[in-house]
Amino acid sequence: YEDRDGWIWMDGKMVEWRKAQVHVLTHALHYASSVFEGERCYDGKIFKGVEHSRRLRRSAELLDMEIPYSVEEIEKAKYDMLKANGWTNAYVRALAYRGAGDEMGVSAVHNPVRLAIAGWEWGAYYGDAKMKGAKLDISKWKRPSPETIPVAAKASGLYMICTMSKHAAQARGCSDALFFDYRGHVAEATGANIFFVKDGEVHTPLPDAFLNGITRQTVIDLLKQKGIRVWERHIEPYEMEGFEQCWLTGTAAEVTPVGEIGPYAFEVGALARDIAETYERHVRA
Ligand code: PMP
Repeated sequence: YEDRDGWIWMDGKMVEWRKAQVHVLTHALHYASSVFEGERCYDGKIFKGVEHSRRLRRSAELLDMEIPYSVEEIEKAKYDMLKANGWTNAYVRALAYRGAGDEMGVSAVHNPVRLAIAGWEWGAYYGDAKMKGAKLDISKWKRPSPETIPVAAKASGLYMICTMSKHAAQARGCSDALFFDYRGHVAEATGANIFFVKDGEVHTPLPDAFLNGITRQTVIDLLKQKGIRVWERHIEPYEMEGFEQCWLTGTAAEVTPVGEIGPYAFEVGALARDIAETYERHVRA
């Protein structure tokens, strides 16, 4: 990904793609002092861009970092980056991180908070799973307790077990992994939230140990507008036996139906297909 044409916004300047480098003593590389956002621009407009910029600043605050740019400045930087690259449909990746400072150690009070905004063209996150349903592995790792780590932050450190779980899933021929949380409840996938359907009603895990995704919240609103009942609650793994349909939600994943999770099978049913289409229309409306 390093050797290509393009522009990346870094600390207030548009930098050539190949020159968008950091020093090896960047604090974030050693101690995971970084937070990020994933957003999608549809037909020239970033879906819920302001919400993403606000979440970026909030994630940073949870890690005791203050991003030296306002929400308005971050919004402008995102559109400047898209314009410089000539993109109207693209994925946007904002990353705030502690850079290299005068000293190197766990404490980062003297390490400046930096901001980079890149983007790329990114199609369907799970390939053709939108049609036939994604196959998920069950991760051996658990989403940690809110007493262990700030689970509401979209912080890089939380993704260490996501990468490991995704590798294990891919080695087993699956496209993603489902996590249970530290109590054993169904939680989320490595980069997406999860929903289930039973008897015409929707059940989704309560986001008290993982990211309450912007797509998740959007989909709940869309379901309620359709008059469909949505239960946000703790879900036990054994309940998956009785669920009929399942889908994932996320900025990159959008709404992707799930066909299998470990031993559990789901149909790519009418509601899963309908909500995927409704979401697709909604983000471009
Ligand atoms: N959980 C995790 C771990 C994620 O990485 C993402 C993607 N940002 C989500 C959930 C979904 O969040 P959103 O809908 O805001 O993209």
